[in-house]
Amino acid sequence: MSEWPACWCGGRPEAPVTASYRTCNACGTLVSSHAGDRQHYQWVGDDESGHYGAGYWHDHVPGDLHQPPLDERARSDMKERCLAWLERLLVSDPPPASVLELGCAHGGFVYLLSVAGYAAEGLEMSPQIVAEARARFDIVVHRGPIEQCSFDRPFDIIVAMDLLEHLVDPRGTLEVCKRHLAPGGTLVLQTPCYRGEGADWPMLLADDHLFLYTAASSNQLLSEAGWVDIEMTEALFPYDMWIRARRPDLPGSSRAACELPRTEPQAAADSRTSRSVSTRPLIRALLDLRHEGQVYAAERDAIDADRRAKEDVLQRVVAEREAADADRQAKDKVLRQVITDRDAIDVDRQAKDEVIARVAAERDAIDADRQVKEDALARVIAERDAIDLDRQAKDGVIERLIAERDAIDLDRQAKEAVIARVIAERDAIDADRQAKDAVIRRLSERPRRGTDDSTPGEGS
Ligand SMILES: [Zn+2]
Repeated sequence: MSEWPACWCGGRPEAPVTASYRTCNACGTLVSSHAGDRQHYQWVGDDESGHYGAGYWHDHVPGDLHQPPLDERARSDMKERCLAWLERLLVSDPPPASVLELGCAHGGFVYLLSVAGYAAEGLEMSPQIVAEARARFDIVVHRGPIEQCSFDRPFDIIVAMDLLEHLVDPRGTLEVCKRHLAPGGTLVLQTPCYRGEGADWPMLLADDHLFLYTAASSNQLLSEAGWVDIEMTEALFPYDMWIRARRPDLPGSSRAACELPRTEPQAAADSRTSRSVSTRPLIRALLDLRHEGQVYAAERDAIDADRRAKEDVLQRVVAEREAADADRQAKDKVLRQVITDRDAIDVDRQAKDEVIARVAAERDAIDADRQVKEDALARVIAERDAIDLDRQAKDGVIERLIAERDAIDLDRQAKEAVIARVIAERDAIDADRQAKDAVIRRLSERPRRGTDDSTPGEGS
């Protein structure tokens, strides 16, 4: 933690933004963990050492940052950003004026400035890149860093696009720049502006962007480096800021000897400047084209936005339709299920109805049978009752007959007794008669004895 390099302002980077960036506790600048390696970033020897050698442009930028090769960018940057920069400069600081671009890379902006009428020169660190830019555009390009350069006259304007964040000693470099400007000269910077985007901010390239400034910290930096009239406005790209500042009108700007010789005689530069002034209609035409392009782009963006809005509506409608279809399908499914259930209930009900009908028929048959049986029972009961009555009547007859028989028996017994008595009386009468007959015969026989023996049976 104590190894983290100090901020340009001397403050301590503390709050981590990513593993490679911390926020300065004093000024708010994001400080890369690489920010302390001055030798690596401040000097390019023979293009084999130093961060900004030819390898940076030809290998690192296309390979690691996925930007087009420098030759391609010389063309694409011209229309995508150099024209926009030029337009701003034509408004704020029109030619004639001399301009030095720090970090001119392919040299396209220097060339465009020249064509627009500025006496423009560039500065780049790599000998190979410097040579390529000179050859590509036939422009004046110095080999930096600017701390080791001197120029034979001060510039009116120094521009540095996407450079400030790469400087290992920004305050020192900005102080040096001041010395190479004429009194009242202008500094124009474009640099990323950190607005608290956090760890996902695409500008967090720790190996290249050593310091990433907020609006406040860049203002503090320029103030501490002695710049005045600092203006900050929106830049071409939303993640950048556009800074314009003025060198105070102070005497005594230095003009030290440059370690590197100028690349071409002053006369040649002057000749190209006058030539570029004469071609201003070309710049006008380019800017017109740019504006037309902007109009077309705005119309295209509006059409795109309209189309996106319509597509959103369409998507929403399609989604709603699909949802409605899904809902309908679900309801159809439920309906089918309910119909199936109802049919099953109908079938079940029919079956039950049939059972009910059968059971009712059986019950009716039972009722009818029972009625028949009840009728039969009633008839049998009536017959039994009749029999009972008949029997009772017969019992009465029987009792009466028995009584009559018993009376007859008694009467008979009485008559038999009478008969027996009468018989006995008769027998007694008979016996008495016989006795009297016997007496009568004996009496009658005593007189007549020997004359009448022929009548023995008459009295037996
Ligand atoms: Zn700081």
